[in-house]
Amino acid sequence: MAATRISDTRPRERITGRKPRREDLQPGEVLCQYCSAKCCRYFALPIDEPKSWKDFEYIRWYLLHDRATVFTEDGTWYLLVHTKCRHLGDDNLCKGYETRPQICREYSTDKCEYDDTWVYDRYFETPEQVEEYAEAVLPPRKGRDIRTPKP
Ligand code: SF4
Ligand code: SF4
Repeated sequence: MAATRISDTRPRERITGRKPRREDLQPGEVLCQYCSAKCCRYFALPIDEPKSWKDFEYIRWYLLHDRATVFTEDGTWYLLVHTKCRHLGDDNLCKGYETRPQICREYSTDKCEYDDTWVYDRYFETPEQVEEYAEAVLPPRKGRDIRTPKP
């Protein structure tokens, strides 16, 4: 999850806009040749699973920030920030390939997000979605309302 692995050595003439299915890849082809470098355009970090109103308030705060989202996968919660790696070129190739971080070197296309049908178990984009979800899974909030009382 996170960074990428596009080689500067991938044949640029193969970036055609046509996006084959993973299973239709021909021998010698690499998925990254047909991808918009999806995995170089965000980073995601695991976070504690929210279990209380206080925990959900942190999630709500994350999502008040531009380009921040939260998702879950296999029971783990992640903070996801949509932000392009500064090494990613306009041609969707890595311009820092020789010195790319270890996480990029270890990442593989085996389970990457190339496929457009890939979905999250849960995905939160707005503070309001978090509030609604918390209301659905937690007992009613005791005490203070979400709004600060007017003076
Ligand atoms: S998402 Fe997959 S196919 Fe696309 S650049 Fe990253 S590793 Fe390659
Ligand atoms: S260093 Fe290169 S491979 Fe790694 S995320 Fe940035 S552009 Fe992608």
